[in-house]
Amino acid sequence: MSLFESPFFKDAYFQLESAAQTMELDPNILERLKYPKRAIQISVPIRLDDGTVKTFEGYRVQHNMTLGPGKGGIRFHHHCSLSETAALAMLMSFKCALVGLPLGGAKGGIKVDPRLLSRQELQSLTRRYAIEIGPFIGPDKDIPAPDIGTDKQTMAWFMDTYSQLTGYAEPGVVTGKPICIGGSLGREEATGRGVANCINFAYEHFGNKIDRKTTIAIHGFGKVGIPAAEILHEQGARIVALGDISGGIYDKDGLSISKVLNYIEKNGVLKGYPEAEQISNDQLLELEVDVLIPAAIDGVITEKNMKNIKAKMIAEGANGPITKEAVDYLVEQDVFIIPDILCNAGGVIVSYFEWVQGLSHFFWDLTQINKSLHDILKRAFVETANKAKKYKVPFKKAAMITSLNKIQVAMRSRGLFP
Ligand code: NAD
Repeated sequence: MSLFESPFFKDAYFQLESAAQTMELDPNILERLKYPKRAIQISVPIRLDDGTVKTFEGYRVQHNMTLGPGKGGIRFHHHCSLSETAALAMLMSFKCALVGLPLGGAKGGIKVDPRLLSRQELQSLTRRYAIEIGPFIGPDKDIPAPDIGTDKQTMAWFMDTYSQLTGYAEPGVVTGKPICIGGSLGREEATGRGVANCINFAYEHFGNKIDRKTTIAIHGFGKVGIPAAEILHEQGARIVALGDISGGIYDKDGLSISKVLNYIEKNGVLKGYPEAEQISNDQLLELEVDVLIPAAIDGVITEKNMKNIKAKMIAEGANGPITKEAVDYLVEQDVFIIPDILCNAGGVIVSYFEWVQGLSHFFWDLTQINKSLHDILKRAFVETANKAKKYKVPFKKAAMITSLNKIQVAMRSRGLFP
C-alpha cells in the first residue's frame, strides 16, 4: 500500500512542500523529509472471548528522528491506515521541532473499532501490538502515548508488556500512563490546556481577552475536548455547543460543563442531554461562534462545508481537521487558524515532561508542569507570529516554517550517513 494513498498524507505533504518553497528550504533536506525513516506494518492476532482468533492490522511509523527518539500516539480506530499513520508521524516531527523538544516524530495505530472489543480483548490486542513493535520502540528509540481510542489503561498494559521483556519496570517507554506507575501530573488535561492557552495567546495577539461574551463550539468531547471545555469555561468563556460521535448539543446561553460530564458518566455519550437543544455535528461546525475547536478527527472541514463556516477563529485541537482547500478558503475569509502542530502540542510537551521524570525518577508538582507548558507554548506562539510577519504568511504556514528551520539546522549539523 502506498504511503501517499490517503488524502491526509497528501495534505501533510502539501503543507511541507508549500512551506519549503516559501522559506527556500534546502532541497536535499526536503527530499529527506518527504519520506518516513521507517514505516512498519504488522499483524496483531488475538483470541476473542468466544475462543476464535482474529487478526488486526497494526502500524508504527517513525518519520524523522534527527532531534531525538520518536514520539507519537497510538490510535485504535477503524479508519486507521499506514498512510494516515505516516501523515500523523510527519506532523509529529514538525510539532516536536516547533515547540523545541528533543524528540522526533512517530505515530502508531491499529485498524480496529475498540468499542466492539471487551476489556480482555483490548488488553490482548495492546500487549500483542507492543510485542510486535517491541524491537523498534523504547525510552531511547520511540515513546508511544495515547491518541484516539486509547487511554492511560492502554499505556499501562503497554508499559507492563515492555517491562516483562526487559525484566524491570520501564516507565520511560510510554507517556500518558496512570500516575501510580510513573505518569505525570497534568498529562491527562495537557492537550486541552494547551488548546486553551493558545486561544488566550491568539486573543492577546489581537489585543483582546476571553470573557463571558466569547462563544465557543467544540467538536469532539474526549481527551482533548473535555479539558479544553472545562478550562475555557472556568476562564469565563461561554461553551455554547459540544459534539461527539453521537451528535451535538447547543445552548446559546452556555452549557454547564459539569452537568454535561455527569450526564456522560451515566449515559456514555452526549446524545439525549436534556438541558440543551440537540443538533447534528454538521450544524455544530457551522455555528456562528467566536471560536470553533475541532477536537475529534481529521478532515471535518472540507471543500463541502467550508463556505458555511462562520467561526472567526478555529483552534485545531485535532490533527489535520481542516483540508488544504478549506484552509486556503478560510484564510482568504480572514478566519484565524491556530495550527494543529502548535494548538495541540500541549500533549506532547507534558509527555516530554513525563518521559524526563520517568528517566530521572524525580517527579514535579502541577504548578511547575503547567507553568513550563505555558511558557514553552507561548515561546512557540511568538516565534510563529514572528515568522508570519517576516514571510507575510498565515499562521498555519508560519508554524511549519518555524519548525522546518529548526529541523534543517539540526539535519545539516548531523549530516547524512554514510
Ligand atoms: P478521544 O478518542 O479521547 O476523543 C475523540 C472524541 O471525538 C470523542 O468525543 C468521540 O466521540 C468524538 N468523535 C470521534 N469521531 C467523531 C466523528 N466522526 N464526529 C464527531 N465526533 C467524533 O480522542 P482524543 O485523544 O481527544 O483525540 C482527538 C484528536 O486530537 C485527534 O485528532 C488526536 O490525534 C488529537 N490529539 C490528541 C492528543 C491527546 O493527547 N489525546 C494530543 C494531540 C492531538
